[in-house]
Amino acid sequence: MIPLNKPYLPEQAQYQKYLQTALDSQRLTNNGPLVQELKHRLEQYLGVKYLLPVANGTMALQLAYKTFDLTGNAVTTPYTFIATSSSLQWLNISPNFADINPDTLNLCPDQALTAINNNTSALVPVHVYGNPCDVNAFEEIRKTTGLKVIYDASHAFGITLGGQSILNYGDASTLSFHATKLFHCVEGGAVIFNNEADYRRAARMINFGIAESSGEIAGPGINGKMSELHAAMGLAVLDDIDNILTRRNRLFELYKTLLTDYLDFPLWHREASQNAIYFPVIFNSAEDCNRSFLALEKQGIASRRYFSPSLNTLDGTFSGPGISCRHSEAYAQRVLCLPLYFSLTEAEVKKVAGTLIRSLAKP
Ligand SMILES: *Cc1c(COP(=O)(O)O)cnc(C)c1O
Repeated sequence: MIPLNKPYLPEQAQYQKYLQTALDSQRLTNNGPLVQELKHRLEQYLGVKYLLPVANGTMALQLAYKTFDLTGNAVTTPYTFIATSSSLQWLNISPNFADINPDTLNLCPDQALTAINNNTSALVPVHVYGNPCDVNAFEEIRKTTGLKVIYDASHAFGITLGGQSILNYGDASTLSFHATKLFHCVEGGAVIFNNEADYRRAARMINFGIAESSGEIAGPGINGKMSELHAAMGLAVLDDIDNILTRRNRLFELYKTLLTDYLDFPLWHREASQNAIYFPVIFNSAEDCNRSFLALEKQGIASRRYFSPSLNTLDGTFSGPGISCRHSEAYAQRVLCLPLYFSLTEAEVKKVAGTLIRSLAKP
């Protein structure tokens, strides 16, 4: 069996070392020393300024929406993991779906601009598979409309654009540190803010609305904190991050070499780095995609239609009109993500690629 994903497990001794610090200090949560250490090391590693660690990536999204008091609707992509949209709906902000660019599979800025109406308070684009959105076009929309731009950057850990962190664009970006992601804390996430005032407001909000410095209650809040035990895992994984990236990139390049004559890939941003968090392949048709999925399954190889269904087609889950997004709907049926994780072997990559290529020959 070759699963789609496996969490990265650091050396037990390394994890124990951090864990023991937490146990010895008897501080298990409430912005303890390990969470602070993780925050500072991540800020340095990622090249960002105001990073707030939180309990998970969904909390990161909701906290960002709350920090900017979003209301009405937010223009977003239907081609993403459900959490991007369900986190909006959970706060009574309607996802206002606009179609994707068929080459990059990211939210199309022109479509997004068309979707904006009087009730729109923000744009929530996603850097799908870590591939940067057209951030310059969204920046232009941000300037001309005054709308907030919050990037769901859950896939974009470590991605740079022209040497600069992708997380520095827009008003805020969010990360997920879930066990299945490239960098993880078992459960965890972060919001990266563009300015300090927003960061401070959000830091209060995840602590029940209580300001840490004064103890004053500044408004309603939630408990969105990361614990010391989760930060311990994050620190141990961060110690190995260069290794993780090198390994994943090598497997990614091998897939690409083996499959490039047979399948298409999303068009990667020319100036962006690669973090090899997913390996998506694009088929000519939904039928080809389905046949390959079944052929892989028969060989004990897991793959996933990631992302399917196109979220605009989920009747009754989201408020607002169910508009059509033809590219997103088509690609939701034509893309598979292949197994990719640290402990995957080159031999396994070759087995997956071979099975896939054989399945493409018409029966
Ligand atoms: C993983 C993911 C999330 C949710 O993160 P959690 O940490 O699992 O809550 C949100 N958006 C995208 C695009 C994701 O891939």
